[in-house]
Amino acid sequence: MNINTHYQEVNESYLFSTIAKKVNEYAAANPDKRIIRLGIGDVTLPLCPAVISTLHQAVDEMGAKETFHGYGPEQGYDFLKTAIQGYYQQKNVQLALDEIFISDGAKSDVGNILDLFDANNTVLVPDPVYPVYVDTNIMAGRKVTFMNATQENGFLPMPDASVHADIIYLCSPNNPTGAVYNRAQLQQWVDYANAEHAVILFDAAYECFISDPNLPKSIYEIEGAKTCAIEFCSFSKTAGFTGTRCGYTIVPEELLSGTVSLNKMWLRRQTTKFNGVSYIIQKGAAAVFTPDGQKQIKEAIAYYMDNAKTIANGMEKLGVWYTGGQNSPYIWLRCPENMESWAFFDKLLHEANVVGTPGAGFGENGKNFFRLTAFGDKEATKEAVERILSVFEK
Ligand code: PLP
Repeated sequence: MNINTHYQEVNESYLFSTIAKKVNEYAAANPDKRIIRLGIGDVTLPLCPAVISTLHQAVDEMGAKETFHGYGPEQGYDFLKTAIQGYYQQKNVQLALDEIFISDGAKSDVGNILDLFDANNTVLVPDPVYPVYVDTNIMAGRKVTFMNATQENGFLPMPDASVHADIIYLCSPNNPTGAVYNRAQLQQWVDYANAEHAVILFDAAYECFISDPNLPKSIYEIEGAKTCAIEFCSFSKTAGFTGTRCGYTIVPEELLSGTVSLNKMWLRRQTTKFNGVSYIIQKGAAAVFTPDGQKQIKEAIAYYMDNAKTIANGMEKLGVWYTGGQNSPYIWLRCPENMESWAFFDKLLHEANVVGTPGAGFGENGKNFFRLTAFGDKEATKEAVERILSVFEK
């Protein structure tokens, strides 16, 4: 047999393993030091009570012949799709149930969607970026063109009419930068994509952290988006489902390539290669949209956003440039004293005993930047910021 040699072209990701190695070595040599981790991109609060009680009920249903569920619809149960439809209606976005596809998370769908596209498509990806967008394209043999996200453009690159693209990745609120596109900026992207006959793959995994009512939470709030955009969303950060696994993807019926419907292609792909998310988990996800579920997940989001504020206030005091933290759980800061991100990582670990994520791990343009996350414990986050200030305010 011959293998897909493009797998050899994917860069080995040393980011999190290098961080773990450095932290473990430091911890072993300094057992008396309490290390605080502000590097994690995972949630830390448990599932909310509304989800837990529904999960218990669904488990019991599976134990009785009358209420047992075997294979479900590959694209998800109507009870969950209807709840998601209602959630989009609150954003003034009307979706048909057939446009909503339930999955085990945004990462799978972001990777799998590439089944729909030709290997010769031109792919436009921001730098720095969530590495999955780049690696999944390299694995499929596609070349990736980077667009620069920089301090100058607020880490929100805009379309360049002289550059052609077929597939465009946008993530807003962004991981790693925390930057959020406004309506006018997204309108420019939608207009560009429609003119190019390109598709925008819009990652809305962090939409629930947007509190500013003027900022769009869905690309479909933008006129013309249904003819050019696919949206990926997730219960991971919204409701603490990182270990429970559930997400959804919207493929509008108006999205066509010539006369071919991408919605029908995705349906065909999912019904062929996927057998759906478990009934129990979909029940738990639907509980997120009940009044109790909404109230409870908002409390968890407020807890994280309080941490984001603590970190952002610390950066203000320090006088460093940063994005994020207002409508995003990520704070992306320029390393003080013009340090490179790994040097800053070492200094922070050794002198403040705080762990973050070096921006270099997300792309060339991240090499003088650093990501801190709001997903930690409240008291620990406060202490971490005080420690950072005491090291760098001098
Ligand atoms: N998209 C972005 C931008 C992410 O940061 C993450 C997870 O960190 C995901 C998607 C993956 O989400 P899920 O847990 O639903 O697979």
